Amino acid sequence: MARQTEPLELVVGDVLELRKPHPCGSLTWTVTGLGADIRMKCDGCGRRVLLPRRTVEKRMKRFIARGPAVELARQLLEEESQADEALANRGAPAK
Ligand SMILES: [Zn+2]
Repeated sequence: MARQTEPLELVVGDVLELRKPHPCGSLTWTVTGLGADIRMKCDGCGRRVLLPRRTVEKRMKRFIARGPAVELARQLLEEESQADEALANRGAPAK
């Protein structure tokens, strides 16, 4: 029943719960940087790690909290689709 085919949408500020606890006992990590690898900070001991996105996707259990950038990204997407509509309307005859 595992259908996690979509790529994980991560943003800076996301708090993730992983399947395995860090040696310090904490299960939660905060995303602090995105790139080819995901930069995360352990919420328990503050240790920073750099993990390949794949590894994060595999180890992640769920989102504890979403970063503010998710809202921002949604807004941008909305604005973009509105801009598309405006362009489409502009192409239509004015009468
Ligand atoms: Zn830790």
